[in-house]
Amino acid sequence: MSVKETGVSYYGLSYPEHAEKDFREMINHNCNAVILALSEFDIDFWFPNIIRVASVAKDLGLKVYLDTWGIGKWFGGEPPSNFLTNNVKNRQVSAFTDEALPAACFNTRAFRDYFFGICEKLARNVDADGFFWDEPHYALPKSYASITGGPGDDWSCRCPVCQRLFEERYGYAMPRVMTKEVIAFREDNALDILKTASEMIKSIRPASKIVCCVHATINTYYVKENRGYDDWEKVCKVDAFDVFSTTILNYSLPLSYFKSITQRTVDVAKKYGKGSQRWLMDYYNEPENLDDIKKIVHLYDEMGVESLFGWTYRGGYGTSLAAPRALEMWDVLGEAYGEVLGN
Ligand SMILES: [Zn+2]
Repeated sequence: MSVKETGVSYYGLSYPEHAEKDFREMINHNCNAVILALSEFDIDFWFPNIIRVASVAKDLGLKVYLDTWGIGKWFGGEPPSNFLTNNVKNRQVSAFTDEALPAACFNTRAFRDYFFGICEKLARNVDADGFFWDEPHYALPKSYASITGGPGDDWSCRCPVCQRLFEERYGYAMPRVMTKEVIAFREDNALDILKTASEMIKSIRPASKIVCCVHATINTYYVKENRGYDDWEKVCKVDAFDVFSTTILNYSLPLSYFKSITQRTVDVAKKYGKGSQRWLMDYYNEPENLDDIKKIVHLYDEMGVESLFGWTYRGGYGTSLAAPRALEMWDVLGEAYGEVLGN
């Protein structure tokens, strides 16, 4: 019906000849796309083989997206950050305690230059179809109804750079409470770095598709989360983004939540002329009956989602976040993909 693209994320990619076997397994699981999850260490240390791994995937007919995974701990993900290891400053700061947090402040010149450098290097050298902005967020977000983080009132970033930028814009000191101006300031800056990076990537490789994937959260009149990317309309207004994507949901959540997140994702994407993407959990948490994964895949297809991705290849098999029945889960996901692509 609506699904045209199916895939999984893939990490720990180091040798093209081994990756080739994995890509063939993905194709046998009815994937036609792959997201290469690249940590800062991968991009720094394994760069020659990233180029080769991407080209192997392309040669096999897969669409290839590059995921700046966990970079600066601004994007979602488990990998450590070279930037944080190599820089004692440029960190996000808690508004309530003034303590530095283990996350880079992406409003600082140092981190922006670092990130743009990574994007330029990838865009120039890696023959990929696009980039995937993976759950970007400020540290310490509110996170009701999410599998990541916990609810709280503290927020970031109130570092000296953010305070100076805020004061330049509004003419008064940055408050410690989350006012409307603070929300707007945070959101505008959070989008500016991604917009700038996306435009730069397209200037180098014009056919690049940019997918922006935000947390799948409630964000209604009553509950507003504060990751900086919570206003989906505002995210979709960025011209340089081609696909609007919302992240995985834990299978313990009610089906009505899967429906409402997906409806809102498809609606806002359509309103702004973007493609739509929904994610499926394929690691850590699994439904009691694995066939429920198929129900959700069909639901997304019926609701008009164009691209489906699972995190991650083989259900996270072999990692500390593997699903209990990781390989079975991966097989069921593959079958579900085949069913909707067959439509
Ligand atoms: Zn800051």
